[in-house]
Amino acid sequence: MIIVASSNGKVGISAAMAVLRNGGSAIDAVEAGIRLVESNPQDDTVGIGGIPNLLGQVELDASIMDGRTLAAGAVATLRGYEHPISIARKVMEELPHVLLAGSGAERFAAEMGFQRGELLTEKAREVWEERLRQAMPEAVLANLEGEPDLRQWVKRVRESRRSGGTVNFLAQGADGDICAGVSTSGQGWKYPGRVGDSPLIGAGNYADNRYGAAACTGLGEMAILAGTARSVVLYLKMGLSLEEAGRQAMEDLHALPAPYLGEMNIVALDRDGRHAAFSNREDRTYVYMTGEMDEPEELPRVLVPGDTTADLE
Ligand code: ASP
Repeated sequence: MIIVASSNGKVGISAAMAVLRNGGSAIDAVEAGIRLVESNPQDDTVGIGGIPNLLGQVELDASIMDGRTLAAGAVATLRGYEHPISIARKVMEELPHVLLAGSGAERFAAEMGFQRGELLTEKAREVWEERLRQAMPEAVLANLEGEPDLRQWVKRVRESRRSGGTVNFLAQGADGDICAGVSTSGQGWKYPGRVGDSPLIGAGNYADNRYGAAACTGLGEMAILAGTARSVVLYLKMGLSLEEAGRQAMEDLHALPAPYLGEMNIVALDRDGRHAAFSNREDRTYVYMTGEMDEPEELPRVLVPGDTTADLE
């Protein structure tokens, strides 16, 4: 039994392990762990408290993949629901589809009995507004909805500050089944409707019992263009070790053109329960916990530096 998560998953990893210990599935464990991160208002990159898009709307992306069946479910640009990971799971279990976006995802959430809630916290709204005030004149801010050229403001507002974050959970139960889950409010100040890598199976999330699983945080456009999570698993299938597979997937990103160069992080797990994580930035960590451990442990990620000079992260 093992759970691996991005470092912000620390608030949910013990609960996820408790699910496995009590006989729950890897899917149950991933969902339970991620729900706690989604409910953590201190985390401004996932669920409640997430930094909103350019218009001040919190739009959430999430996905879950079952490595036993290779089934998956995902939601994108979902507004007004605290637990996109649970709605993604319902997409996997209740629909002959993988990904629902926007109003359709919200309709489905209501149909499945999820309650609507306010996701924009006062703190996140203040951070959002302060940044807009620095970047644009008052008159534009006062009428953002009606602004004919939002594109120029997305570029200006998102310059030179990291504005993203995501939670990744990978779990393997005692039966060997693997599940991977990802949830995020995406890039802060993004263009409305922008979808990152997190709800895209193959980009930000992939799991296959036969080989392992991987999930990403960082500049989603990179993982989309390189198919990063799937690449890690495919390299495992080709016989590379977990460390080689992760390094290779990171190195694949180096060929991307600007502006698709920024921070990228991967967590990975192989079918034998070995874990590793990778980053192109120094001092990045991840957490893991096995069935024998009382507390999770935080470890450094393997550094795979590239030409990541772009400021858009
Ligand atoms: N990967 C997420 C996205 O691009 C955000 C992040 O992890 O920084 O939406």
